[in-house]
Amino acid sequence: MTINAPMLLTAAREAAVHAYCPYSNFHVGAAVLADGRIFPGCNVENASYGLTICAERNAIFAAVASGARRIQAIALACVDATDAAPASLRMPCGACRQVMAEFADPGTPVHIDGVGTLTIADLLPSVFRL
Ligand code: ZN
Repeated sequence: MTINAPMLLTAAREAAVHAYCPYSNFHVGAAVLADGRIFPGCNVENASYGLTICAERNAIFAAVASGARRIQAIALACVDATDAAPASLRMPCGACRQVMAEFADPGTPVHIDGVGTLTIADLLPSVFRL
């Protein structure tokens, strides 16, 4: 079965249900396609704020923990964003973009619910690499 963008976006929206976000009340879900499998992630907040982790990194780290190394596609859903919310509210943060670039090629699609499809290169054109 080929996993397409709508299927990945659905998985991201479903993952958002599990978000732990008592401080922001902003549920975010992500789904990473790697090794032909979908790895879901949600934001998990912490009272210290700084220890909070985004849905995207949660999903990517779950994929890596399962042995996957190359990401084929990513979907992201900020299910609490209203239709009138600016696109910037739905975009991945800088930390997540850097982590995406570690495991995904520049042309890898990132499907952002309510925004459209961008690539890793669109999101982080001048990536840091060692
Ligand atoms: Zn992030």
